[in-house]
Amino acid sequence: MNNMPNHRNYAYLTSPEIAAMPNKENVVIIQPMGAIEQHGAHLPLIVDAQISIGVLARALGKLDRSVPAYALPPLFYGKSNEHNSFVGTISMRTPTMLAILTDIAESIYRAGFRKLALMNSHGGQPQILEIIARDLHEKYSDFCIFPLFTWRVPNVAKDLLSAKELELGIHGGDAETSLMLSLLPDQVKMELAVTEYPYGLPEHSLLSMEGANPFAWTMRDLSKSGVLGDARSATREKGDLMLDSLVIGWTQLITDIYKFEQPKAYGNHLL
Ligand SMILES: [Zn+2]
Repeated sequence: MNNMPNHRNYAYLTSPEIAAMPNKENVVIIQPMGAIEQHGAHLPLIVDAQISIGVLARALGKLDRSVPAYALPPLFYGKSNEHNSFVGTISMRTPTMLAILTDIAESIYRAGFRKLALMNSHGGQPQILEIIARDLHEKYSDFCIFPLFTWRVPNVAKDLLSAKELELGIHGGDAETSLMLSLLPDQVKMELAVTEYPYGLPEHSLLSMEGANPFAWTMRDLSKSGVLGDARSATREKGDLMLDSLVIGWTQLITDIYKFEQPKAYGNHLL
């Protein structure tokens, strides 16, 4: 479940090792995040957390030794209230998430680190990461925070999935199911996989599910099974290709964070 390389595992460090660490302001600390929420009958609750952990563990394994980066213990739970009507989902409220992420980030800052990447694979909470990143950077102007979504690095999903699937297959569909066939095949029940697309979407309208002008929804508005997408088309081969490309993308992204310098139009404006 959590196979971070030992030398990249923050929780395996000692306090004196952290105190003596050189160039701490550029060391990349990464918080893998997910959710424990329903993904239909064919996928386990852990999907989003497993994707963050699986991609990050492999990326850290490939990362050049000269780039200092450590994974924090994964944050399995997320804000998943769009799935509350499907039994088994565990959801944190927005204030809880804000409090937990603030406490983790301020602990990292107190330890002398200045670069924190939030690596999230759950589509229901990027907004929370963006708010917390902005608020923390405003409070600590030398703290670089990166609110990131696992799938937004360059990857081959766009080449392997249909246009319809790319737009609407956002939960337990081809992408997530294929990736789980690669990451945790023993926990995927392909015999229970379904294909289900959202019901009743507005047509000839500026409004859409996830587009420029969205409407608020919960999963029971859109899906009977809890799946949105074509899980039956998923294959391990596609999952392996997606995983490889995500790992390459994340290896580069972590390196870019290490090299990153916060823009300072007004000089060093620490107040
Ligand atoms: Zn998911």
